[in-house]
Amino acid sequence: MLIEKGEYIAVLGGGQLGKMLCESAKRQGYKTMVLEPLKSACAALEADMHLVKPYDDKESLVYIAKNSSVITYEFENVSSEAIDILEENGGYIPQGRRPLYISQHRFREKSSINNLGIKTAEFRQVFDKESFEKAVKEIGYPSILKTSMGGYDGKGQWVLRSEDDFKKVSEILEEREYILEKMVDFKCELSCIAVKSTDGSIGVFPVVENIHKNGILHITIAPARIEKEVQERVKEITKKIIKGLDFVGPLAIEYFYGKDGEIYVNEMAPRPHNSAHYTMDGCDKSQFDLQIEGLCGKHLEDPKLIKNSVMLNILGQDVERIEKAELKENEKLYMYGKGEAKKDRKMGHLNLVGEDLEKLIKRAEELAK
Ligand code: AMP
Repeated sequence: MLIEKGEYIAVLGGGQLGKMLCESAKRQGYKTMVLEPLKSACAALEADMHLVKPYDDKESLVYIAKNSSVITYEFENVSSEAIDILEENGGYIPQGRRPLYISQHRFREKSSINNLGIKTAEFRQVFDKESFEKAVKEIGYPSILKTSMGGYDGKGQWVLRSEDDFKKVSEILEEREYILEKMVDFKCELSCIAVKSTDGSIGVFPVVENIHKNGILHITIAPARIEKEVQERVKEITKKIIKGLDFVGPLAIEYFYGKDGEIYVNEMAPRPHNSAHYTMDGCDKSQFDLQIEGLCGKHLEDPKLIKNSVMLNILGQDVERIEKAELKENEKLYMYGKGEAKKDRKMGHLNLVGEDLEKLIKRAEELAK
């Protein structure tokens, strides 16, 4: 369905991703409404309408269904009940519930990837001590135990390097679902985001390299410093996944580039992704532009990298320093307008663009010190 300028796009969730989505929608001539319980949420600054209600508030969902032309989400934890209410009341939510159902749960996510003939690290499901012991025997060390649902930025994960670790983790195992994954010995971590339009066309962004610190994305380097052939391979895999899973809207996929030369999917998210924030300055279209275009039924093509780019995440502990720094013309700071600058809270990001990638990385690291 083609959505015309001036019509309302509804976004479930009003964090920084929602804010940047609303900015892009506004630039493209659309109006936005956001459902977000936090009154002072980032997206409130940009949205034309802010429904300050819980994500599952029936009245608000009915209002959204009846008063918006298209509905999208900026986070994965949208409940199935919320989607039901939207759909029952005539809401148009082209992404539907499947991308959420699959990506909310690591076992479903990895199984669906493997079913397409694409590699992930070897994994086993864990429910209790017995299945944990069996999984460790089969997978061996080093391995990593992850909660199946609800973990992010390295939270809910335990690395196992020895029998000792196994014993310690056994003690704290709760009654919930986990997966045990083999540790991949990787050259680097990569990611790639694609968007599928409601008209079936797909736009795939360049492949980028990600460096994490304490489990949180630290910098993204675009393009990834890997062989062109591997970049193309990762783009093809990304396309195969979004097509194979029959998703609409954005799909960000994180990968390991193994020392064995293989590409392994780590995880995916059906929403804008932190590692694609560089697209706001580095590409001819941003990830937010493409999500809006795709959901409004426009024909998509692969966006182009116009400048080499580095993105530096600004966490709570970095705010004071970065606000004092003298930034150059090729360095653009985005602060999200969040309240308290708590440690490790994502408060903003800095995009650096230019010719010499190594210089940009060096400068980003200097600013991060
Ligand atoms: P995740 O929450 O699954 O993205 O994991 C957070 C980080 O932990 C990843 O970005 C990797 O640096 C590391 N990690 C997670 N799973 C593995 C694995 N199977 N092999 C190697 N490193 C991993």
